[in-house]
Amino acid sequence: MLLRGGKIAAVGAGASCADAAVFDAGGRLMIPGLVEAHTHLDKSFWGMRWQRRPAGPCPIDETETERRNRREPDLNTNRQSGRLAVQMIKMGTTHIRSHVDVDTETGLASIEAVMAMREQLKDVIDVEIVAFARSGLLIRPGTLELLDRAMALGADVVGGLDPCAVDRDPKGHLDAIFGLAQKYGRPIDLHLHERGEMGAFSIDLTIERVRALGMQGMVAISHAFCLGTSDSNQTCRLFDDLARDRIALVITAPEASAAPSVLGCIKAGVLIAGGSDGVRDSWNPYGTGDMLERAMLIGLSNNFRRDAEVELALDICTYGGARVMSVANYGLAVGCDADLVILPGETLAEAVVSRPTDRTVLKGGRIVVRNGELTFPID
Ligand SMILES: [Zn+2]
Repeated sequence: MLLRGGKIAAVGAGASCADAAVFDAGGRLMIPGLVEAHTHLDKSFWGMRWQRRPAGPCPIDETETERRNRREPDLNTNRQSGRLAVQMIKMGTTHIRSHVDVDTETGLASIEAVMAMREQLKDVIDVEIVAFARSGLLIRPGTLELLDRAMALGADVVGGLDPCAVDRDPKGHLDAIFGLAQKYGRPIDLHLHERGEMGAFSIDLTIERVRALGMQGMVAISHAFCLGTSDSNQTCRLFDDLARDRIALVITAPEASAAPSVLGCIKAGVLIAGGSDGVRDSWNPYGTGDMLERAMLIGLSNNFRRDAEVELALDICTYGGARVMSVANYGLAVGCDADLVILPGETLAEAVVSRPTDRTVLKGGRIVVRNGELTFPID
């Protein structure tokens, strides 16, 4: 493979150039950069002392724990988001979509901190920011205006959250986020934890708006646990509708929740991406930010055992994410950006299962990680 100007210039027999520097990959595998399509960079405690998570029965208790943890004097969102982004780079991620909180308590501070981090790391990773009203959009007056300001500031995607269960006003919530998306010409990513009929209703209202506004290909729904019963008629109908209006699903392979079946989605033609969700934060104590690990978890939760199925789980964490995030010039073909991961293994399925850490990562044709070690300085 010949790289020139940060892009793949030639592959195969024609890929030679007399004065090019040569990197011998030693017969290892090469995949395009891993794509983290759903995380929360602003919340991670990565590299900090252990943060306790007192048990609480309801999600609102977790929101409270998070608020309390956020007052931790050592919690610097710019530094923490950078630490997690760098960890992800080490694991071979070249593109991240991060939801970032906007609320009436912290205002736009988290958005500004992650934007500053994005600028600091712009040569080594692409970060897409979703402005996200974690504490509710309409139930906390002033939040919608903040979300609007976050978009004006340069957030890339409008975030939504459980229109029925959190705001208790699905029409109001969806009209508000679709309004912002239209105003700024940006996509939407909707966190949807709602189960059963409630979640299906929110999806129906979302499909209705995508159709009315001609926003096909611009909306993703994260989690969509309500689609976890893949054999029901309703789920099949919703899969068909999502496919027709090119509304993508972003899955995180939760251990304890039903989630949309990957094969069900693919059969219906629904685009799927994968994400870690929170990594070592108030919500989730687990995670390493490794999308090969996420591919393995997607494989385990879908009972994937054959090589082709395990490779499908990896595809979700590479090409799937790139399609959902509309990453241009992605892949291993001539003309694509040279965002690449080289790693030991005989087959892709083996790489997912063994998840070697001595990866070499290229961003824009430059080696940013060599055999698991960063090649750029970090503060
Ligand atoms: Zn999330």
